[in-house]
Amino acid sequence: MNSAPNMTRVMIQAHGGTEALHFESAPIPEPGSGEVIVQLKTMALNHLDLWVRRGVEGHRFPLPLTPGCDGAGIVTSVGNGVDTSLLNQSVMLSPGFSCGECSFCESNRDPLCKDYGILGETCHGTCAEYVRVQASQCLPKPDSASWEEAAAFPLSTLTSASMIEKACLESGETLLVIAGTSGVGSMAIQIGKKLGCEVIATGSTEGKRQKAKELGADHVLDPEQESWWKEVKSITSGRGADVIFENVGQATWDQSLLALAVGGRLTTCGATTGSLVPVELKRLFFKNQQIIGSTMGSRSQLSSLLKSFDSRELVPLIDSVYPFRQLAEAHDRMESRQSMGKIVLQF
Ligand code: ZN
Repeated sequence: MNSAPNMTRVMIQAHGGTEALHFESAPIPEPGSGEVIVQLKTMALNHLDLWVRRGVEGHRFPLPLTPGCDGAGIVTSVGNGVDTSLLNQSVMLSPGFSCGECSFCESNRDPLCKDYGILGETCHGTCAEYVRVQASQCLPKPDSASWEEAAAFPLSTLTSASMIEKACLESGETLLVIAGTSGVGSMAIQIGKKLGCEVIATGSTEGKRQKAKELGADHVLDPEQESWWKEVKSITSGRGADVIFENVGQATWDQSLLALAVGGRLTTCGATTGSLVPVELKRLFFKNQQIIGSTMGSRSQLSSLLKSFDSRELVPLIDSVYPFRQLAEAHDRMESRQSMGKIVLQF
């Protein structure tokens, strides 16, 4: 028997702290029909990596599992039915995949497909030297982007753009970005400015507020200050923010809703500080406000965002880059809540 060449990957056998991130040797996967193998140059962390490692009450992940949703690298083999011109191409990965045939998939609403999955959540992800993906998950890496940026771009940019689209943010409106230097928040500031909006961002430290300004925020404020929502009111001449971009949850929720304008839309994709929150329904309906949940976005939307990436109108903010072997340190950094933007691992 000839032995297949090996690679290093991380496998989570049981949920836990960073000790749950086990490095192991395994055969390089083979592509099935319609699939390709990508040798990764970089991968980037998302909050989902922390959820997958720690576990989420009431949710079952398919353990053992290799985490990691974002990645970029070079296509090293292609399966049956895949265009061989993909071989040796530099690609970045679309984290989501779906059946490609149902009415949701055909109308560019693939996150609603019953077979929708995310790399590193529903199948083995990018914390490995090689990853197996559907050929349709490969997007051309722009030449203008570094490998680090290519891995940092997809999930948070797609999440951010999709939230803003669902909230129907328009030029001239005010966008409040809670946690303006998070992966999604830093992209929301850039998208808001690109659309011609006035952008207010929160940042819990002076460094974060400064960074949010560099990203284009017109106003910054400290969410640890009492009644910071009043500051939003005063910046907007009493109106409040037309769209609020939330991914923090409990810690900022009450004040976020107080800062929302009449006819305003609050969109959320996360709950890093807790997900059970109160809503004053009378205020919601009298003010004609909307609360919009969102997760991921369609593959076609991600493809259309590549142009703005190539032209460097939208550039992911990178916090730090670690060697792959220091994945545990990278998780610690993310959990410390000190990071600004994306944490990238290099293979
Ligand atoms: Zn489908």
